[in-house]
Amino acid sequence: MPIYEEARQDFSWAAAAQLLSGLPEGRGLNIAHEAVDRHLATGRGGHVAIRAIGRSGTRDLTYRDLSLLSNRFANLLRSLDVGPRARVFTLLGRQPEMYVTALGCWKNLSVLSPLFAAFGPEPIRNRLLLGDAQVLVTTTSLYRRKIAPQRDQLHGLRHILLIDAPDEPPDGTIDLHRALGAQPDHWTIPATSPEAMALLHFTSGTTGTPKGAVHVHNAVVAHHITAAFALDLRPHDVFWCTADPGWVTGTSYGIIAPLTHGVTLLADDGDFDAARWYQVLADNRVTVWYTAPTALRMLMRAGEEMASRYDLSALRHIASVGEPLNPEVVVWAQKAYGMPVHDNWWQTETGAIMISNYPSMPIRPGSMGRPMPGVEAAVLRCGDSGRAAVADGPVDVLGAGQVGELALRPGWPSMFRGYLHDDFRYQQAFAGGWYLTGDLARIDADGYFWFVGRADDVIKSSGHLVGPFEVESTLLEHPAVTEAGVIGVPDPVAGEVVKAFVTLRPGYQPDEALRAELIAFGRRRLGAVAPRQIAFDQNLPHTSSGKVMRRLLKARELGLPEGDLSTLERPR
Ligand code: AMP
Repeated sequence: MPIYEEARQDFSWAAAAQLLSGLPEGRGLNIAHEAVDRHLATGRGGHVAIRAIGRSGTRDLTYRDLSLLSNRFANLLRSLDVGPRARVFTLLGRQPEMYVTALGCWKNLSVLSPLFAAFGPEPIRNRLLLGDAQVLVTTTSLYRRKIAPQRDQLHGLRHILLIDAPDEPPDGTIDLHRALGAQPDHWTIPATSPEAMALLHFTSGTTGTPKGAVHVHNAVVAHHITAAFALDLRPHDVFWCTADPGWVTGTSYGIIAPLTHGVTLLADDGDFDAARWYQVLADNRVTVWYTAPTALRMLMRAGEEMASRYDLSALRHIASVGEPLNPEVVVWAQKAYGMPVHDNWWQTETGAIMISNYPSMPIRPGSMGRPMPGVEAAVLRCGDSGRAAVADGPVDVLGAGQVGELALRPGWPSMFRGYLHDDFRYQQAFAGGWYLTGDLARIDADGYFWFVGRADDVIKSSGHLVGPFEVESTLLEHPAVTEAGVIGVPDPVAGEVVKAFVTLRPGYQPDEALRAELIAFGRRRLGAVAPRQIAFDQNLPHTSSGKVMRRLLKARELGLPEGDLSTLERPR
């Protein structure tokens, strides 16, 4: 592992690109070729690419298996007249079909958009419509519960492929395995521009609809090199990324980067359970483990003694991402696992790890680390809006110790290329030559970055980014609710949980029965991102332009200073 300063100094993105193969005969760069097919040419076709742990046991897929199956998937898309740029959505967990779909989709130059299977029907519908979904790959049960009841609204969705179809697949669906069985094994990846769109990942903002961040094939350059630098991946590793494929970590490091390194990737489809997770680590002799603070906090609660009952001797590196990592967890891991947890920071828009506790440098527990080689990061002064200057206003780079908005100098390969159909919000993400991340941070005198909070109102719950607007809009569909304001409130395990303040229409009583009904209503519609707490409030604070002041709701909830109230609407 190179020394951090040396790696930064010697680094160039052009040199990083040389670590990949490119398509034969200089026909461009395709993620699927880098992740799978090129390993066949170097004699690694028989190496296990994916060890899938499912309810019915463990199944190994070699790089050769994955190459053939993804060839068939690409042929299937072509036979269904699904071409380049068409959006192929998944509503899957970490089943083998998830990986085959992703790779086959890239081989056909179609665009993969993985959704979080725990979303309720509304967030799923919004994203399928926003992303112009043509194909959806899912399970029979998810199809019946979340798609079939609203299929007539999903204009443009031409094909639904079921990975576990019954003998008689539901009307208008295709049995994926039967269809793959009828396809040829051979496929030649067409010439692929590195700038061709490959991935569409939805993320949430403070206002409006979810944003579809567009990523291109060239992102694989950043996936590959950052996995070497921050996760220390090597070809003989057994790597376990616990992230769901519906979130960006689950694709960049749950699918792409480990395969470009030729490692064996664990695909565990089970739910979190502390003892079972240790069993997975021990049985599979996991060497590198990439997980999240919520899971680590739950493991810490389960205790050091439980950890000591399992043979974790193969483990040599642990990394974490997605939400603030408490320093206690880093210190506890040193005792429980004999090694610390390396925190790192990035987001959907950046496509790859940007700031990291690099393996060869001393960890500062509580810090996100330092910018990766090839990445320039800074903290910018925030204006009255709480953000660094928007549009082309001047920006002011702050020195050590001062809190401001975390910003990155654009230009790395996995940088998002736009928000689908929303150039306005894309342009708003830049100022003075910087990309504004929406996070508040500070740098210390040695260049380590420390997370302070979000500069906007989005909520991080169990590592999932939740847009308050989407939750508020759904609550407004309940007949009792006339207005809603949604915030995140601290939770010792999940980081934050979603809390909604609702104003009731005349004639409705703010009682326990209605509270339970609203919680159940949210759960049915929104799934995992639904509010866990509901408060009744007939006097929500508004700005003079009539928007609910979430910032004030949060300050009141937490007993914090209420800050600048100049835009608060005063009762007349
Ligand atoms: P997402 O786009 O869903 O991956 O969420 C990205 C956001 O998660 C970031 O903008 C941060 O607010 C938060 N985040 C990611 N990694 C970290 C970290 N290591 N420490 C604190 N917050 C993080």
